Amino acid sequence: MKKDNQKSAAHLFRVYLTCAIVFLSLAVFCFIFVLLLGTLIFIHPSFASYPVHWVSFYVSLVLLIVFLLLAFLFYWLLGKMRAEQASSSSNFAKPTFIYSTSLFLKTVKRLSGAKGKRGGEGIIACLNVKGLNGDILNFYGAEEVKAINSVVYDCINARFTDYSRYRFGFSLLNSFFIYSKSVDGEGFESQLRELSEDIVRRVAARGKIPSLTILYGACALKDAASPEEALNHAAFASKYNSMNRFSSAIVNFSRDQMSVSSDERELPADILLAIKEEQFQIFYQPKFSLHTNRFYGAEALVRWNHPTRGLLPPSFFIPFSERTGLIVDLDHYIYEHSLRDLSKWESEGERMVKLSINLSRRTVYDEGLLEFLSSQAERYGVEHKYIEIELTESLAARDTAFLFQLVSKIKEMRMQTSIDDFGVGYSSFNSLKKLPFDTLKIDKSFIDDIEVDKKSRDIVRAIISLAHSLGIWTIAEGVETERQVSLLRSMELDAVQGYYYSRPLNAFEFQRFLKNNPFEAPKEKGEQK
Ligand code: C2E
Ligand code: CA
Ligand code: CA
Repeated sequence: MKKDNQKSAAHLFRVYLTCAIVFLSLAVFCFIFVLLLGTLIFIHPSFASYPVHWVSFYVSLVLLIVFLLLAFLFYWLLGKMRAEQASSSSNFAKPTFIYSTSLFLKTVKRLSGAKGKRGGEGIIACLNVKGLNGDILNFYGAEEVKAINSVVYDCINARFTDYSRYRFGFSLLNSFFIYSKSVDGEGFESQLRELSEDIVRRVAARGKIPSLTILYGACALKDAASPEEALNHAAFASKYNSMNRFSSAIVNFSRDQMSVSSDERELPADILLAIKEEQFQIFYQPKFSLHTNRFYGAEALVRWNHPTRGLLPPSFFIPFSERTGLIVDLDHYIYEHSLRDLSKWESEGERMVKLSINLSRRTVYDEGLLEFLSSQAERYGVEHKYIEIELTESLAARDTAFLFQLVSKIKEMRMQTSIDDFGVGYSSFNSLKKLPFDTLKIDKSFIDDIEVDKKSRDIVRAIISLAHSLGIWTIAEGVETERQVSLLRSMELDAVQGYYYSRPLNAFEFQRFLKNNPFEAPKEKGEQK
């Protein structure tokens, strides 16, 4: 029974192909017959005098048209099926045949005994991997999304092998649909729960993603006007689950969900609680000077050590925190905790290093920001010259006048400022001229292809030389290879940060890193080179 899903779809494909060929052959046969009769009728007037010959001629003509139309119909169906197959294959890491939602619904209708549109027995569940279209895609990339889809496909294909009871399909939005003919909710629910465990285990074994959440929504066919509606309701319930319940149980569709579906009430509570319980952990990524060939500083990067979901990357919670304003609390937390770490390391005999801390757009508009920055530095006894504030370029593009004031004030406090993600915004060069930043950080997207793309190399070279002419220190982020380092060195870049030298390290690992690597003491403003 295994791979029945595949077999049946392949079978359908063969049926369409056979029908197209048969009807085309019949059409050819009729065409020859029409041609023959027509010729005889026109050449031999005596032949034309028999009405039966005329009748045969017209019947064959009609049949020719009918067969041609049928051949085209099956050819069209074949093309449609091919297109659907092709587009779903591009969502998997390996060639995969899986029903598209329309084919899935067609087979569900047949299996469930739905009369016309209505009725039918059974239940449709929608499976979503949380963050696959968002956070996982952003953090781990499209290849990882395809790999996860393949794992999900393999797990479903291995489990739901009884073709007399189950069907499954895939929508291009990365949702899987599973139909079960029997409505004994319990049996199907426990199957789905075990399926989640399979998927989570297999994805974790790949070693890239530490935690994964599978979210289900479901709708029984009897609770919907049609199988299509049941499928939409199941998808909706799964989405509702991801926004509100975040439950590993299967959430059945109910109409009440419609009114609260976009409610984001629970996540803010989670984040505030996580701040209170110190679940956010700061990692430090070392920065390497190409002048002295020594490390001279680090960037603080936050991760959420979630009690049930493991270590979550910032893309899981920073965009949400920015939308809801919670980022201000989070940025304060990170600033305070990283200064605390720094002073602890110093008290344990480590040398001080320059620490870069990211501040988001919301945080910089917070009125008490400067007061907060200096009071915390004082509290932990960290000299201002060890602190660098990273501000994104998009901020500069929006409000240069405001940013000028802010950067100037930070400078007056003898802290440093850096313009982050340089090059991705649109008013880069303009803002650079006007704003007194100490450091310019070239965005990873340019570094990614400097080895292969001359244009990227030219841009990076131009950025570096412009920055230098303005007296600004330059650093590149996302440097991963030796060749990138040597190219950047030849362009007279000042410093690099990236996996080539070190990944972001947790506080414990970073302290060990400080012990084992020569660090250069930060210079006063303007003396970096
Ligand atoms: P960002 O400030 O541009 O940080 C650089 C990101 O690139 C970090 O991702 C870092 O881990 C990653 N990275 C560094 N070197 C390499 C490399 O060689 N290869 C690759 N592929 N990646 C590299 P991370 O930690 O996930 O942070 C993502 C973004 O989240 C940051 O981008 C920043 O915008 C935001 N973020 C992180 N921590 C904080 C924080 O404490 N506060 C605020 N407001 N935002 C933060
Ligand atoms: Ca940064
Ligand atoms: Ca960046």
